[in-house]
Amino acid sequence: MSPYRIPFNRPSLSGKEFDYIREAFDRGQLSGNGMFTQRCHAWLKEHLGCGKVLLTHSCTAALEFCALLLDLQPGDEVIMPSFTFVSTANAFAVRGATPVFVDIRPDTLNLDETRIEAAISARTRAIVVVHYGGIGCEMDAIVDIARRHRLVVIEDAAHGMLATYRGRELGSIGHLAALSFHETKNITSGEGGALLINDDRYRERADTLWQKGTNRSAFARGETEKYTWVDLGSSFQPSEVTAAFLAAQLEGAESVTARRRAIWERYHAALAPLEAAGRVRRPVVPPHCVHNAHLYSLLLPTHEARDAFLAHLNARGIYAVFHYVPLHASPAGQRFSRSHGALPVTTTVGETLVRLPLWAGMTEEDVADVVRTAYAACGVPVDALPAAAGRAAL
Ligand SMILES: *Cc1c(COP(=O)(O)O)cnc(C)c1O
Repeated sequence: MSPYRIPFNRPSLSGKEFDYIREAFDRGQLSGNGMFTQRCHAWLKEHLGCGKVLLTHSCTAALEFCALLLDLQPGDEVIMPSFTFVSTANAFAVRGATPVFVDIRPDTLNLDETRIEAAISARTRAIVVVHYGGIGCEMDAIVDIARRHRLVVIEDAAHGMLATYRGRELGSIGHLAALSFHETKNITSGEGGALLINDDRYRERADTLWQKGTNRSAFARGETEKYTWVDLGSSFQPSEVTAAFLAAQLEGAESVTARRRAIWERYHAALAPLEAAGRVRRPVVPPHCVHNAHLYSLLLPTHEARDAFLAHLNARGIYAVFHYVPLHASPAGQRFSRSHGALPVTTTVGETLVRLPLWAGMTEEDVADVVRTAYAACGVPVDALPAAAGRAAL
């Protein structure tokens, strides 16, 4: 049993998950690329407005798929934030490419688009953006830089499912994008992911790589007589068991997102007085971004204040967490990557950020409990809490 009264995350079911797994079994295909995989592809293509979709067994795999698709070679450079999960950088480092870290914006905590151009060298091949917390990066500026320097834009949209930037779905804007269906993400199949291909140049080859480097798709369409090894590739496909679970999750994706947003809004309203008192800084959402409530983060004034805040919540059975340990400061980051310029915002945010529990099944009382405990952790009386915050629809 977890020692926590309120866990950090708890996956929810949309209803049909186990029926669909049973159906996959009854259909007699448990390996990948069956009916449920195709159903997930169709759902994602329709709802995200992306070019082509290929399910993968993780977002990490989808990012490694991108590196393979771009034929990255040792010495090639990929610009990205250091304030992100390990896989954003590792996926490129395993191909011998060098992650080049650039600082993040202090408001959205996304890659600072004004710092990208100075980091571009003759070896730069791509820019990887991470839409932190499902809040879109400044894609117009980033796509423009990439176009002028002939770079590929890859969206690490692990947080970005069903969020938009200027009306466009995250994951549909870059040449390539990667989604995650890990247990901690809004929509989950335990482990899972997808590669989204928005640039037609990569469509055909992506299919070959997804088929383990074979011409299986062309063979299945009767376009070739031999089924054979034609290119590099890997085993990226999830099984139909995973795809069946995911298909059911996707059916509930919009209602889960709406539910998460209601909880997010409740936190946001209830914590406004703590921000006004200078005790925390709440998330900043630009007016042109619609987020998906992937996470609710607070910035504390100092590293010590952050650790004390976390200790207070954790000791009271509320599982809040910190992240990310900036990649440029990690042991592998120092071996395999480099930074362009100083990364003061990344360092500060890595030391002062807290994530509150947030999952679709949280009750009104769970949220109120976290809020009251956050007030106590900051030494602010709970009667500062606006009455309206307690009434926001949940
Ligand atoms: C979760 C996450 C990943 C990795 O996702 P997996 O599906 O677990 O491989 C990559 N990037 C970011 C930003 C993430 O949050």
